[in-house]
Amino acid sequence: MIELYEKVGAMHIHTVFSDGTGHHGEIIRAGVEAGLEFLLFSDHRTLEPKRRGREGFQDGVLVGIGYEINDHDNHNHLLAFELDREVEWGLPAVEYTRRVVEAGGWAVVAHPDERRHFLAEFPPYPWTAWASEDFQAMEIWNQLSEWMERLNRWNKLWRYLNPRRTSLSPTRWTLEVWDRLNLKRRVVGTGGVDAHAHFYPLVANIGVKIFPYKVHFRSILTHVLLTEPPVKDDAPAALKQLFAAMRAGRIFISNRFVGEARSFRFWAEDIRTGAVHLPGDRVPAGSELQFVIKTPLPGDQAVLVKDSRLVWKRRESAIPYHSGSPGVYRVEVRRRGRAFIYSNPIVIEGE
Ligand SMILES: [Zn+2]
Ligand SMILES: [Zn+2]
Repeated sequence: MIELYEKVGAMHIHTVFSDGTGHHGEIIRAGVEAGLEFLLFSDHRTLEPKRRGREGFQDGVLVGIGYEINDHDNHNHLLAFELDREVEWGLPAVEYTRRVVEAGGWAVVAHPDERRHFLAEFPPYPWTAWASEDFQAMEIWNQLSEWMERLNRWNKLWRYLNPRRTSLSPTRWTLEVWDRLNLKRRVVGTGGVDAHAHFYPLVANIGVKIFPYKVHFRSILTHVLLTEPPVKDDAPAALKQLFAAMRAGRIFISNRFVGEARSFRFWAEDIRTGAVHLPGDRVPAGSELQFVIKTPLPGDQAVLVKDSRLVWKRRESAIPYHSGSPGVYRVEVRRRGRAFIYSNPIVIEGE
């Protein structure tokens, strides 16, 4: 196995530059306290924080700034990273997605599967522009989105009081759409916190924050695997390195509430050539692979999924599995019955 360098961080963070309540400094401090190594911000419709120099290393945390675009109906939220300027406002989703990619940006579909209808104050913002073939990634697990999705007037208070207990798993629909897309082309799966720290009034002016940034930073985390030693000091180069790994699909997603997922690994060895393939890789038809999974703890349950179907599950570490059958192979890990880790897939292409 080749040496990998793991960076753990949080994606999809809002600040006072749009509808979040926190300033960059305090949010970064919350990230440091949570032990995170990178934070990727995405305020609605503006890259202003980037123009004001908020990108870079701060307190040892690598800060990247993108933004979140939406259409006129407020649907089709798209996170756009690695851009210096916003694309033209007011276009349909297929079009702004294309422009983001053409401008060299990384286009990530946000919270694609929202259907809630219980509370008027939280309408759904699903992705409907599936005609687009340009987006390069999608959020498969979004903390705030899942929290709101299962909210109703009876469980409201419990959910306010137990925010991290409410992260159960990505939706089956999202996972199936994601797997199907990967049959054709690489679509990277990411995790989002969608942190705003909104103030929500319960009675008169007494209310709660949903949720403090520090709560988000202990929920859905994104683990990025670098194949070269991490760049230090030079922030633009470090961001370039981080995004290159993310674009390549070298990502797994964990729920920090369930446990510490660092050191999870999933890779495949080509039986004939000995070449090692990492999540995000696509290998040609006819390849024979030995898949290897290493869970963080021996008691964790590893589940190998091919084309959305369970292939096998086991409670062992470093279990190999041999296959030459074309398909999208990825791993889910459960701990104490809870969804814990989702890898990106390794794909054996069809004929
Ligand atoms: Zn959104
Ligand atoms: Zn958002």
